[in-house]
Amino acid sequence: MTTIQALRGTRDILPEETPLWQWVETVARDSLQRAAYREIRPPLIEQTDLFARGIGEATDVVGKEMYTFEDRGQRSITLRPEITAGLVRSLIEHKLTAQGGVQRLWHIGPAFRYERPQAGRQRQFHQLDVELIGSRDPRADAEVIALAHSLLQTLGLQSLTMDLNSVGDRHDRQRYREALVDFLTPYRADLDADSQDRLERNPLRILDSKDETTQAIVQTAPSLGDYLSDDSQRHFERVQQFLTNLAIPYQLNPRLVRGLDYYTHTAFEIQSADLGAQATVCGGGRYDGLVAQLGGPDAPAIGWAIGLERLTLLLKQLQNAPATSMDVYVVSRGEAAEAAALRLAHGLRQAGLAVEMDLSGAAFGKQFKRADRSGAAVCLILGDEEATQGTVQVKWLATGEQAAQSQGDLLANVDGLRSQILTAQQPQ
Ligand code: ATP
Ligand code: MG
Repeated sequence: MTTIQALRGTRDILPEETPLWQWVETVARDSLQRAAYREIRPPLIEQTDLFARGIGEATDVVGKEMYTFEDRGQRSITLRPEITAGLVRSLIEHKLTAQGGVQRLWHIGPAFRYERPQAGRQRQFHQLDVELIGSRDPRADAEVIALAHSLLQTLGLQSLTMDLNSVGDRHDRQRYREALVDFLTPYRADLDADSQDRLERNPLRILDSKDETTQAIVQTAPSLGDYLSDDSQRHFERVQQFLTNLAIPYQLNPRLVRGLDYYTHTAFEIQSADLGAQATVCGGGRYDGLVAQLGGPDAPAIGWAIGLERLTLLLKQLQNAPATSMDVYVVSRGEAAEAAALRLAHGLRQAGLAVEMDLSGAAFGKQFKRADRSGAAVCLILGDEEATQGTVQVKWLATGEQAAQSQGDLLANVDGLRSQILTAQQPQ
């Protein structure tokens, strides 16, 4: 019989990897909570229309990458290809934007895009998404960008670079779009096939084509920066000032346009040189029109998403994940001893210790080997003699020191045991 394997472009995150993921999630949660961001958990499936209207029909994401299907009630459903649109839908539906005011939100979870799988690019991937909704203030841009920057720093990622641009407001972009199409049309035949296609549908995306000939052509194209209105220009300058004040390094990249239609003004991407072709760890920007476009009030917003596969790839290279370890490993042999071991393990866990219990019933020697490998500080040993006497051998694995103690005393004085374990776990 052929065995069933995970779908192409999806991956199991195995137990040896989850400590790294959990660490990232904990650091993210803590730093976001400290900045007054609250977690929101929207569903993974939405009406297809949400993404068609929110992200834009002309984008790659909507045009080529969505997992769309008809459910049994003939509704068109899509697995979310990104998180922002669903989050904004939720906000509008629950009238969270109605009172004016600012909403600071975050969410972690999977997103789905039908792409060509490769390192750092999957069909099911995970994003940490952060959004600040309800402020037009350039301080909001700086706050949100600073959060991404300091989160990545806290995780130990020092050698990242940030590209920054402004794509202006809707009117700026419209004027620029016309100028760009006028400029590119004479070169049409020289553009790569994708870019030719984009010339009508989504010409701004031609700017970040990876094709060499296309790149050489757009080098001399008009620059978006020259099409910004005074207000757009002022906003962008303030954002840059704030980032400089916060000592957050960035480089201006006039050709940075983001893949989704809804972006306005500030756009940014954080890259690593250590990720090969899939270099962008974090992408984000302002999207002042999206909330209204989806039927909500006129609420300007800014946010970003970090791709967690790419982030954890980088962290693995640095081996930054903290080791997780057990406090106690319990070995036992013989029916009465095994029952006592179960009781002890249960009691110690209830008292807050991390306890692993050997279930093998194998010879003590084998169980001890596993105790050593578990990383526990202390091994509790129960055999026939201990079972009869109501005692347990407490063995400190680093030193080999061992002493008998009554089972009742051990459970009655977990605090004492805990502080001894903490001492034993201190790096030497
Ligand atoms: P790319 O240009 O690499 O396709 P994108 O512009 O489509 O990225 P966004 O929509 O901005 O990506 O998503 C934000 C982040 O999510 C990206 O910077 C990346 O880290 C991650 N990401 C996007 N698509 C994938 C994918 N298919 N697999 C893994 N991570 C992804
Ligand atoms: Mg993409």
